[in-house]
Amino acid sequence: MTRVAVVTGGTRGIGEAISLALQAQGRTVVANYAGNEEKARAFTERTGIASYRFDVGDHEATLEMCAKIAAEVGPIDIVVNNAGITRDGVLHKMSFDDWNEVMRINLGGCFNMAKATFPGMRERGWGRIVNIGSINGQAGQYGQVNYAAAKSGIHGFTKALAQEGAKYGVTVNAIAPGYIDTDMVAAVPAPVLEKIVAKIPVGRLGQADEIARGVAFLTSEDGAFVTGSTMSINGGQHMY
Ligand code: NDP
Repeated sequence: MTRVAVVTGGTRGIGEAISLALQAQGRTVVANYAGNEEKARAFTERTGIASYRFDVGDHEATLEMCAKIAAEVGPIDIVVNNAGITRDGVLHKMSFDDWNEVMRINLGGCFNMAKATFPGMRERGWGRIVNIGSINGQAGQYGQVNYAAAKSGIHGFTKALAQEGAKYGVTVNAIAPGYIDTDMVAAVPAPVLEKIVAKIPVGRLGQADEIARGVAFLTSEDGAFVTGSTMSINGGQHMY
């Protein structure tokens, strides 16, 4: 049986690598995106993976679009909550909108996707949810109170939902990437990035594929005994 996997923010960056890794595992993959039509169209043409546009921070839209995916593609057994944004700034300059928007999408998106799909996984007795957190949710980061709080919240959300899913065959885990070479990191000013790389023991940025391989394991049958965990994939930058 081919299981259906939905990867939020799955058309570029880390999400694209995750979509491809799950496709290579034989999953029927659906990639979600927010609004970058050009990237989404090119991704679908290149990979044959269907892409669905919706804002994971919008509760009603997420419920509606997940119902549509289930009707058009099949019941959703695997969810990777990868969509995320940054709105960085030191607290005294950060607006309430910057706070809210990051919480709404990065953390609210996980809740909305789980509301749309977890009940079905529970009923069918099998499911996999992987939430993409961040090293900055574990360790904090200057200028990112909104992002660090949302990502840290993801780690708590994961452990709580894992307890609800455990006896129904639904595992819920998080991956906390370190600095990965994507558009998000390309937006970090070069002198700041140099200082960051200097603190990574393996001496380089991570590659999106290195996160995708972690997701592929956690969503596989082999990952059945792993739940409520956070896998840190960060080149040794933060160890605990
Ligand atoms: P990118 O900025 O490269 O891609 C973000 C993806 O998320 C895009 O596909 C985008 O869609 C989608 N997206 C953004 N907002 C929404 C929304 N409201 N609804 C649906 N989709 C949305 O990010 P990365 O690949 O770098 O990061 C992926 C995840 O990994 C994020 O959660 C990020 O916080 C996390 N992470 C990244 C790290 C890094 O070093 N890059 C480090 C640690 C964590 P569209 O293309 O339409 O804009």
